[in-house]
Amino acid sequence: MKRERSAELYEKAKRFLPGGVNSPVRAFKSVGGDPFFVKEGRGSKIYDVDGNEYIDYVCSWGPLILGHAHPEVLSFVKEVAEKGTSFGIPCELEVSMAEAVVEAVPSIEKVRFVNSGTEATMSAIRLARGYTKRNKVVKFEGCYHGHVDYLLVKAGSGVLTFGIPGTPGVPEDFARHTLLARFNDLSSVESLFEKYGEDIACVILEPVMGNAGVIPPKEGFLQGLREITERYGALLIFDEVITGFRVSYGGAQKLYQVEPDLTCLGKIIGGGFPVGAYGGRAEIMDHVAPDGPVYQAGTLSGNPVAMAAGLKTLEILRRDNPYEELERKRKRLADEAKRLFEAKGIPVWINGVASMSCIFFTEGPVETYDDAVKSDTKLYSKFFWALLENGVYFAPSQFEAAFVSVAHTDKDIDRTLYAIEAALKKI
Ligand SMILES: *Cc1c(COP(=O)(O)O)cnc(C)c1O
Repeated sequence: MKRERSAELYEKAKRFLPGGVNSPVRAFKSVGGDPFFVKEGRGSKIYDVDGNEYIDYVCSWGPLILGHAHPEVLSFVKEVAEKGTSFGIPCELEVSMAEAVVEAVPSIEKVRFVNSGTEATMSAIRLARGYTKRNKVVKFEGCYHGHVDYLLVKAGSGVLTFGIPGTPGVPEDFARHTLLARFNDLSSVESLFEKYGEDIACVILEPVMGNAGVIPPKEGFLQGLREITERYGALLIFDEVITGFRVSYGGAQKLYQVEPDLTCLGKIIGGGFPVGAYGGRAEIMDHVAPDGPVYQAGTLSGNPVAMAAGLKTLEILRRDNPYEELERKRKRLADEAKRLFEAKGIPVWINGVASMSCIFFTEGPVETYDDAVKSDTKLYSKFFWALLENGVYFAPSQFEAAFVSVAHTDKDIDRTLYAIEAALKKI
């Protein structure tokens, strides 16, 4: 496959953009080699600037549950955009969108729209701190909540301790109130609460981990977190930026029947435009300005074009209820891929929930972040490039989810399996 035009653009991009990109994963660093530049997308496919076609399992990292350039979403966006793209004045679409979110997500009574998932988690934590008048935040190793300063904290050796910033530019003081626990390990949470319970404002997590590959919660884990946080008067925050409207129309809280105090949303609710949101019980949300003292604002928040894309996306999901069919396609791909790997004698472990999944290059099982990082990332990289050569785009990192969209057909899956078989001959 030729990618000459992409190579030229990348050289130019590196002159003007740090790393040639506007978000680090796009540079393909973790699989080695250079990125391709996309020209357009339609349904389940994307086309690069050299004219190559790929079946896309990244789907803009999650938002595109309906696939690329969905005609109904596009035509509504066009209709709305033609009347003006931003006002900073209340508009009806914000109200309709809020109503749709409140109706769908069990624990949300009121919601505030922002412009990204990062803003959503940052604001939800500010609110949790303002509401509880406490400082500390419990987060889990391997969970990603956007690039919020005090949430960019790594576990290091896995010792549970005060956070150490995972990046230069974050003063140690900022991470001082971040406590690390282990996903699917309630005792790690319990012991943090025993020690710091009086000052813990909230526990934040992805109810299904989607940024360390895909790791589902073990039976009782989310319930256990609900119980511990209630016992200590801390808030439970589900970061459903990926899982919201993805693992079910009501998100992970509906699927697992556990209601958090606050929920963060993003990705799908923007229908391909920059949107985030946080919401919860009215009694908590009423602490947000202008009703309450916790300040949070945004020039472009709730802008009509993004609201239109999100609203139409939710409308289609509610109307067509594609969730069973999405899960069937994801399972079919996973089961048949598994057989291909077995036949080749390459040990992999495949996790999946609804339409999100991950092939870990390790024997498994993968139930924790520690299990995930045992994966053979070098082998994954070879697999990634071999697949790309065969017209299938998986994420350029072992630790990302693969998404099946409404637009993926069984024929796409057949072609993907054929590409996997061909790739396995090469690695
Ligand atoms: C993508 C993501 C975010 C950050 O959202 P941005 O829109 O990239 O700021 C936060 N939390 C989770 C779980 C995510 O997957």
